Amino acid sequence: MSEFDTKLTKLRRAFHRDPELGFQEERTKAKVAQILRDLGLEVHEGAGVIGLLKSGTGNRAIGLRADMDALPITEISSHDYVSENLGIMHACGHDGHTTMLLGAAEKLAQNPDYDGTAVFIFQPNEEHGLGAQAMLAEGLLERFPIEEVYGIHNLPGAPLGQVSTRAGQICASESLFEITIHGQGGHASMPHVGVDAITVGAEIVTALQTIVSRKLAPSAGAVVSVTEFITDGQRNVLPGNATLKGDVRARLPEDRNDLERFMRQIVSGIAAAHGITAEMTFNTEFIETINAVAPTEAVARVGRSLGLETIANRPPMSFSEDFAHFCAAVPGCFLLLGNGEDGPHGQPLHSADYDFNDALLPIGSDLWAELVRDRLPSRKTEQ
Ligand SMILES: [Zn+2]
Ligand SMILES: [Zn+2]
Repeated sequence: MSEFDTKLTKLRRAFHRDPELGFQEERTKAKVAQILRDLGLEVHEGAGVIGLLKSGTGNRAIGLRADMDALPITEISSHDYVSENLGIMHACGHDGHTTMLLGAAEKLAQNPDYDGTAVFIFQPNEEHGLGAQAMLAEGLLERFPIEEVYGIHNLPGAPLGQVSTRAGQICASESLFEITIHGQGGHASMPHVGVDAITVGAEIVTALQTIVSRKLAPSAGAVVSVTEFITDGQRNVLPGNATLKGDVRARLPEDRNDLERFMRQIVSGIAAAHGITAEMTFNTEFIETINAVAPTEAVARVGRSLGLETIANRPPMSFSEDFAHFCAAVPGCFLLLGNGEDGPHGQPLHSADYDFNDALLPIGSDLWAELVRDRLPSRKTEQ
């Protein structure tokens, strides 16, 4: 292992030991900012950390994003860099993402053979889908206008260093809904004098399942899941009120809008059929991640030029990504990088025995650095 690779491994494990939840990444941010400063980058701290590496005189710029937050999960592994913060764990590999991007900053700072600015974006709170918007609200794009933006996520179970992406939609949206049914409670022995909120709720649950199967195209790949059904009933009391909560996934914004519209129709229609009222809230926490064509082609080109197995048209992922908000503002590409198949590297993201693969650190750093060289004009440096 080279000295550089050893350094990255040490750094990744230090982040791993000290995970912080979304919007609480204070120590992580301070460390990232310090490393970037030591490398000579111009650093801006706000909701996240931004590092600018300017080279030459050109005013073109591209953005590279890593995420820094961890999850409320108790790590069960016994390696010597296990989380020291009880109940918090880097179970999504953001410790590795942060380290790969810092590695790229070091590589490019040592050999800035491009003309323009590489904008290193370290975002907070990816897991709740709030960090990207917080950085955008601070004027990220106005202050540091980037032409394109890129994001990498490790993919457990895929061969180490395999690059996979696709043009168009790659990650789903996630919307949370809550339906409140206002019936009339009463005696369980005399249902006719009330309006049983459970019966109405059950009809709504069943009817909601017809949206995906009967209203959207079979290829839509949408999901409507009712995950909670709460009432104020008792053993001999018919409930007057019921709340249904759940989760909706969509691959396209148009489908998401249709899903919401059909859900509202069903909820108010069924309530009206029973002579009662019902309300629904529908909050989209993550929008769809849509990759632009040219950045996606660039990722495939760079992956192949580095000799990495590269899949340019993988199937869409079922999970959601906060990177979507950057991608919606600027043409971009979100790509997956294989984390390996065995042991903790192959365990699912968000599982208590998952671990980021340190062998991926130099691969990811190289990929980042080459992407900058592909997208910005080249500049000869004096060696
Ligand atoms: Zn995650
Ligand atoms: Zn993640």
